[in-house]
Amino acid sequence: MLIVMHADATADQIQRVCDTIEEMGYTARPMPGKQRTTVGLVGNDGRVDGSRMEALPGVQEVIHVSKPYKQVSREWKPEQTVIRLGGGLEIGGEAVVVMAGPCSVESERQIITAAEQVREAGATVLRAGAFKPRSSPYSFQGLGIEGLRLLARAREETGLLIVTEAMDPEGADRVAEVADIIQVGARNMQNYSLLKKVGRLAKPVLLKRGLSATIQELLLSAEYILAEGNPDVILCERGVRGFDSATRNLFDLSAIPVVKAASHLPIVADPSHGTGHRDMVTPMARAAVAAGADGLLVEVHPNPDRALSDGAQSLYPEQFARMMQETRLIAQAIGRTIAAPAGSHS
Ligand code: PEP
Ligand code: MN
Repeated sequence: MLIVMHADATADQIQRVCDTIEEMGYTARPMPGKQRTTVGLVGNDGRVDGSRMEALPGVQEVIHVSKPYKQVSREWKPEQTVIRLGGGLEIGGEAVVVMAGPCSVESERQIITAAEQVREAGATVLRAGAFKPRSSPYSFQGLGIEGLRLLARAREETGLLIVTEAMDPEGADRVAEVADIIQVGARNMQNYSLLKKVGRLAKPVLLKRGLSATIQELLLSAEYILAEGNPDVILCERGVRGFDSATRNLFDLSAIPVVKAASHLPIVADPSHGTGHRDMVTPMARAAVAAGADGLLVEVHPNPDRALSDGAQSLYPEQFARMMQETRLIAQAIGRTIAAPAGSHS
């Protein structure tokens, strides 16, 4: 439920609305706006009688948010959310943020080389998993804490921000010490203890769509994070399980405009997991930017043929450089840009 205050409501009147909400056992979220303040009532508001709020001084209107996800919805917040990622980089604004790097951190040499290559081509965020959720317990599981240390080194060397996955609530604090953006992977989209945990951390979260999740389920998972107090959620379309083995997943491009209409949160596209084949990544990256994605998450490896995970969908560095040039043109065509590295004037 949203309580919209009059434009001239006083601070005392806003406070009284917040106190009333808290007395009723809910959480009050005051949201000062350009014109007026809105106070969100957070919690299961199915039984709340809006007339009690309407009667309070300074209240203009009470809005019942119709969607099951509340704070994530455009009804709750009509204007687009722009998240500060660090180093002056933002996501959700006009600049499209490119996050690129190998699937996994494999060695110091591999991650530093990859970081230098993707930075050279114009990426601003380095992606790579230190903790890897693998379908088989016998596959490479990631370097763990050592991988985090190497990611911190790569950031020192290149200035790139880091996005890396947290697999469980216990490990999330360690990941948050290094990550600029904490990734919640597709397999964990409905790991509610992990969602609640990252909702209490002060770092942006990249939430990937589950392998068979509907868009509504993705938005409800994001709601868990916002409900815990972390407003900085970036959604990620990475394809869902389809019936056709021609691609690894069915990359749902239409999820981008659907999410844009339903939510104010930024959405990025991952055409690497979305297609599973490197030759399909660039066309889908171009398409995702054209469809309105706020960012791209792309796998690039210095030597994909020797990658310990997801080699077949990892771009060669020179392919990635070309992808950057092409997506830059697409961004321009729709009045956007590709985000430049911090401190760069290009
Ligand atoms: C990844 O980004 O490498 C990854 C494991 O992705 P997903 O969770 O989308 O499968
Ligand atoms: Mn991967």
